[in-house]
Amino acid sequence: MNTATQLKETFLAKSEVKAHDLDHKRKINFNIDKYNAAVIKGKTQFANLDTARKQAKNIKWRAIEQLDKHLELFEKNFTERGGKVIWAEDKEDALNAVLAICKDKNARTVVKSKSMVTEEIHLNAFLEENEIESVETDLGEYIQQLDGEPPYHIVTPAMHKSKEDIAQLFHEKLGVPAGLTPTELTLVAREKLRKKYTEAEIGITGGNFLIADTGAVCITENEGNGRLSTAFPNTHIAIVGIEKILPSLNDLALFWPLLSTYGTGQTLTVYNSIFTGPRQTGETDGPREMYVILLDNGRTNLLRKEVRESMYCIRCGSCLNACPVYKNIGGHAYGTTYSGPIGSVISPHLNGMDEAGHLSFASSLCGNCTEVCPVKINIHEMLLENRHIYVAEKYGGVGEKLAWKLFKSGVLHRGLMNSASGKMKNIVFEKAFKSAWGDRRDKLVFAPKSFNQLWKERQKKA
Ligand code: SF4
Repeated sequence: MNTATQLKETFLAKSEVKAHDLDHKRKINFNIDKYNAAVIKGKTQFANLDTARKQAKNIKWRAIEQLDKHLELFEKNFTERGGKVIWAEDKEDALNAVLAICKDKNARTVVKSKSMVTEEIHLNAFLEENEIESVETDLGEYIQQLDGEPPYHIVTPAMHKSKEDIAQLFHEKLGVPAGLTPTELTLVAREKLRKKYTEAEIGITGGNFLIADTGAVCITENEGNGRLSTAFPNTHIAIVGIEKILPSLNDLALFWPLLSTYGTGQTLTVYNSIFTGPRQTGETDGPREMYVILLDNGRTNLLRKEVRESMYCIRCGSCLNACPVYKNIGGHAYGTTYSGPIGSVISPHLNGMDEAGHLSFASSLCGNCTEVCPVKINIHEMLLENRHIYVAEKYGGVGEKLAWKLFKSGVLHRGLMNSASGKMKNIVFEKAFKSAWGDRRDKLVFAPKSFNQLWKERQKKA
């Protein structure tokens, strides 16, 4: 079995297990119900939500159509204030750049705020291999790090855990009494993390937006951990995907409330920070050095016209919460950093069609993802485009190709269709397509007589 087939089989096996795990379903539904209720309230802040979404899409269109120009403008403005920009073509470039900075600063500990890009490049594991402690400071990420699991969801990393699960985890991993309440658990995490902020030589963050006309990195969070991670350490490294660019600082007036509403249902996220470089002369706080690593890592593959809109994504997680497939199989079954509908669109281009192309088929194409996207990305249509690319580039299996060939000959030649009896068709289907049909669908039973036979008999009688 080749790697692509293995990954597909693993995805199917994990999905099969999760889809029938009622406890998992209960926890997910509980959390998504809370999210849905909050989003309804959050949306009321917009006088005309549809116009706001259209405008956001238009701004992202402008940003991505002139991506090179905007990124260069960002670099110019950021470096003018003493920041350093590193262009990373792939994961290795980004990791090597982080390591070089860590070595230069003799860093033994880094504190990290929540960032999916650092998950994408497996930064924690890499730093650990190089004997540098990397501490997650976002509560959800901290829980996941304690449990040795990747994030389950792009916005709420521990969404699949109940408060009882977390209390048990803290008890086992940190030795605190069992059965603590959420407030007590938060205080435990707070006490452990506060020390780390002051010890760490480097703070690493992602970035929700890059602002071209100001040379700024914007970070949105609810816990203040992003601010602490950048305020105490002398060096701040922000690793940001190149698609996060916005042309102007004014665009935040629209994108901040949109991201908050669709991400968590809030009117505005609690902490919104704009970093325009390291500490300036006369300033008393902030890092002495600031680096921004602009990461491509396959993103330029998304510029192909069929999926270009996926570059508009602001990672709000709304399409995951709305997706019937995600809600059944959960975030870990996908086996990729980005899960859910948008993950199934971008992962085949970030990781390779052979590795993740099968994910584009994990959709009912109901279109709910497109309905709920704040920047109106045509997600379900791009899933179809991916399926087309997958087949056109010959990633489909031999069995599938054969099945379609047979189907095509059959439907184009009625005589051929009619040559086998219903019984014979049942036997062929049972032998050749049983595994593809699956155990959970009703058995397909062909009618004993074909339509032509029935028609002829009726004519005779008439
Ligand atoms: S595709 Fe749209 S809904 Fe999904 S995470 Fe991105 S911005 Fe949010």
